[in-house]
Amino acid sequence: MLYLAANWKMNGSKQLLSETVPVWQKQSKQTSLIVCPPATLLDYATSHYPNTAFGAQDCHSQTHGAYTGNLSATLLKEVHARYALVGHSERRQYQHETNEEAYLKAQAALAHNIIPIVCVGETKDCRDQGNTKKHLEQQLQKFIKNPLKNILLAYEPIWAIGTGVAASIQDIAETHGFLKNLLGKNMALLYGGSVNQENAHHILKIPSVNGLLVGGASLKVGEFSQIIQTAEEIASVKTSPE
Ligand code: PEP
Repeated sequence: MLYLAANWKMNGSKQLLSETVPVWQKQSKQTSLIVCPPATLLDYATSHYPNTAFGAQDCHSQTHGAYTGNLSATLLKEVHARYALVGHSERRQYQHETNEEAYLKAQAALAHNIIPIVCVGETKDCRDQGNTKKHLEQQLQKFIKNPLKNILLAYEPIWAIGTGVAASIQDIAETHGFLKNLLGKNMALLYGGSVNQENAHHILKIPSVNGLLVGGASLKVGEFSQIIQTAEEIASVKTSPE
């Protein structure tokens, strides 16, 4: 099973949903499509496209309370979100989210039958200093100590997000291998960071890549369609997480 998750970030509209989702859903036979639009579109999306899995871009760790502007798993469940990104690097950067919070958010999501897509990744400086593995291990410390069942993990090197420069095949293979050693080879592990229709094929062919988390290219109906087609071809020859 290959996962293809589209992270629309603070972009998109009902119009974009109507132009993309019916096309993509039709194409996705062996790949598991997950569209993460802004939370304001979730209710509309899940009621208009019930055969597609939608995800939120965050999920608070508490179920309710005085947390102005946040959304809990209970609220997300009410609009039928099936997945939630947690610990995305942009939230870590702009909302100062911590590793601890990412774990609590993942726990909260799971408690309400929402599958968390836990995002981890290193900065360029961290990689250049040879600290990538140490950093990833730190980010995942709680997940290693108290494993959660049924999560998806997304390796998203920060220097590759939105830059047009994806990590090399060798770097992805090595880092994914490391992450699978940490969390078990059955952990479904997605790669994210400047995936496009040109590089998707080579990335998806890496044995330890179980899917992709796609930002910019998922806002373009044609480009993401190409990525789905590529995933469909590869899914037919690839087995479950390894
Ligand atoms: C992301 O932010 O999750 C992402 C993968 O972005 P992009 O594909 O645009 O690099």
